[in-house]
Amino acid sequence: MKTAVFSAKPYDKEHLEPANQSRHELVYFEAHLNPQTAVLAKGFDAVCCFVNDTLDAETIATLGSVGVRMIAMRCAGFNNVDLDAARQAGIRVARVPEYSPYAVAEHAVALILDLNRNIHRAYNRVRENDYSLSGLLGFDLHGKTVGVIGTGKIGVAFARIMAGFGCRVLASDPFENPALQGVAEYVELDCLFREADIISLHCPLLPQTHHLINAETISQMKRGVMIINTSRGGLIDTPAVIDGLKSEQVGYLGLDVYEEEAELFFEDYSNVLLQDDVFARLLTFPNVVITGHQAFFTQEALSAIAEVTVKNLNAFEKGDTQSGEWVA
Ligand code: NAD
Repeated sequence: MKTAVFSAKPYDKEHLEPANQSRHELVYFEAHLNPQTAVLAKGFDAVCCFVNDTLDAETIATLGSVGVRMIAMRCAGFNNVDLDAARQAGIRVARVPEYSPYAVAEHAVALILDLNRNIHRAYNRVRENDYSLSGLLGFDLHGKTVGVIGTGKIGVAFARIMAGFGCRVLASDPFENPALQGVAEYVELDCLFREADIISLHCPLLPQTHHLINAETISQMKRGVMIINTSRGGLIDTPAVIDGLKSEQVGYLGLDVYEEEAELFFEDYSNVLLQDDVFARLLTFPNVVITGHQAFFTQEALSAIAEVTVKNLNAFEKGDTQSGEWVA
């Protein structure tokens, strides 16, 4: 199938080419897919997209009008795809529901360890010949209470790691996952907010989870709580969390995702002035660590994403579109 790969980086090509083995004609576009760039897909059967492509009704209507019949997301989340618009346009949508839950879970743990032991600050100090320890005091993870919101594939992997540190793990999810029996205790969300020293978000962005972390929920948390978000930026009301950091109600914040990341992440803007004042304020806190949506970015995950994406293109070609990868 002729497939236009949007938001394509060299590492995408490096992994998609060996998985594809020339079966489909893959054409790579650096541009994000959005209403302005959708016409580039003219003459293609499928588009292959990533987290910050805009697959809204307008983009999808253009895709439909230029003959695209399939959207192959090379990620798990599909909150950026208007599924109703896709159905209306007769376009099928597949994603990669699971590639490496360990990649994201381990990155969440990396943010916790970095924040707790002030590794980012220590790194800079040592490079400056400064070996003083003031301000670097951490705490043992052993014996602390960790709240996991969302216990699907990533939440389970994360909970297991934290249990391995000797943490008490509390979990919240509308569906209890039997894999966590003996690892975590399911509790009501308000109990998790009240008791957790560290809260890590692993639920999808849905209308019900939008701004799950807000002024009200932050006020229910333990003073000095650590909040980790490797899921989707829209789960956190950023101005509310900034207020929480200023009042020290929030003691630490580790982010791999940000609500307005579409205009920022995955690109080099080191020669450009930062225009996002909310993001700029976040960067001023010594107890905030931000990575640019790299939690998924491991060799194992990229290989798995490429394999499943090609498998999804194969399946569409064969008309075999019933499995869990298909969301529309
Ligand atoms: P999953 O579908 O296996 O699990 C999601 C879990 O969240 C499910 O158990 C679901 O029941 C639960 N959930 C739904 N609504 C909830 C709510 N209101 N409160 C609590 N839990 C709720 O998904 P996954 O593979 O574990 O991925 C989790 C999220 O991680 C994805 O939605 C995606 O946004 C994010 N993600 C981020 C990266 C990254 O690089 N930063 C990479 C992959 C996935």
